[in-house]
Amino acid sequence: MFNLDSCRKVLIVGYGVSGKSAYAFLKKRGVDVFVYDDGDGDIPDRVVDVLCQNFDALIKSPSIPFMSHNCHLVIKEANEAGIPVLSTFDVFRIYNPNSKIIAVTGTNGKSTTTALICHIMHKAGFSVEMGGNIGVPYFDMPEAEWYVLEMSSYELASSQYLDFEIACILNIEPDHLPFHGNLANYAAAKHKALDHAQFRFISYEDKITMARYSSEENVVTISTENEPNSDIYICENAIFNNSTNRIAVNLSVFSNLPGKHNHQNIAFAYAICKHLGLQSRKIINHISSFVPLPHRLNTVRKIGNVVFVNDSKATNPGSAARALATFVGYKIYWLVGGRSKKVDPMVYIKDYMSGIQKIYLFGESMDEFEKVFEGIKKTVRCQTMMTAINMAYKDARLDNVATVVLLSPMCASFDQFESFEHRGNEFVKIVQGLG
Ligand code: ADP
Repeated sequence: MFNLDSCRKVLIVGYGVSGKSAYAFLKKRGVDVFVYDDGDGDIPDRVVDVLCQNFDALIKSPSIPFMSHNCHLVIKEANEAGIPVLSTFDVFRIYNPNSKIIAVTGTNGKSTTTALICHIMHKAGFSVEMGGNIGVPYFDMPEAEWYVLEMSSYELASSQYLDFEIACILNIEPDHLPFHGNLANYAAAKHKALDHAQFRFISYEDKITMARYSSEENVVTISTENEPNSDIYICENAIFNNSTNRIAVNLSVFSNLPGKHNHQNIAFAYAICKHLGLQSRKIINHISSFVPLPHRLNTVRKIGNVVFVNDSKATNPGSAARALATFVGYKIYWLVGGRSKKVDPMVYIKDYMSGIQKIYLFGESMDEFEKVFEGIKKTVRCQTMMTAINMAYKDARLDNVATVVLLSPMCASFDQFESFEHRGNEFVKIVQGLG
């Protein structure tokens, strides 16, 4: 593996959460480290005029594009000069060559599944920490024998020292296409996790991944659609284990993780923990004590018959569809908007549209979604989320049946907010302030 300690000069490209953490870590080790960032924030040891030739290595933050169709200029220069470009994961691996890693990836459900696996293992007595895309940079994790890492497609695509004990792909749906160029590249990035893992857990319904891996060794298939040919499948609110020919988990007891999508997350966590040797009874107990992550289908408040739900983390149509599916039987007042993923939402949501009363649009994607829903559902242009909440509540309170004001925006937040957390926190604040 690459020896960073022997480098004379290292450049970190991108000074976000992971860049900052890598900077602090390398600085502490005595590496001569500099930073390049396109932004104009407060950046230490900043390099403006990048002459890559001066550096022995570049460390790329996950979201810096590096593929031929959109390569960042600094990465391009480094490539042309033959300077090694490492990912932040590569740096973590270089300094932690012996730790055991469980890599969790997929389009939706990564954070929940990562946190759930780590919680179960921790409760079962493992020395385990979680990090990666879940918001805990690798270098901020305390030392442990096991790491459960949420791996984004960005990080997987650009890493060269991938080496996992276990990897899973929950699902693959179109997302982050401007970064990857196309769906094939996006899927290939996710598949890199499986290519570098000893044991692989995949979804029976993920046709792209099944086609490539189902006949390989050390692959466990998991179905949410009652598919008895898979190793583990969900049937009538229970997880069925094909190898024991028995129901392993009764899903109806987990009110902390509602919805079919969460049942998929539970099934993956169960299968992986079972593989680690844990007893089903213990796994079930530990799932029950899991506290769900914020901004994922969290009920914020109930005023009369109106429930307010914060699902700000639903940043693509696939995840928003799961929210709509969870509220079948409700009248839904749906808040949609932000930076569009440019994916046709109807492909995902068409089966769950009947409860939608009106769609309240905000952010830069208003025109796009007004067109998408024209003649299908009533839309209201609100500009801001605050207006959307107020207008939705005004309409929803007139109903006298189970009603939900649902923020499941199927867009990224960056047009009007710093992050999905910022958007979700604002939603909570505004809803708490409603009279
Ligand atoms: P990720 O880290 O992949 O974005 P999260 O666990 O943070 O996943 O959930 C993101 C969004 O996706 C939430 O709106 C959540 O309700 C939804 N979601 C969670 N798990 C799944 C799943 N297995 N399939 C589809 N959607 C999911």
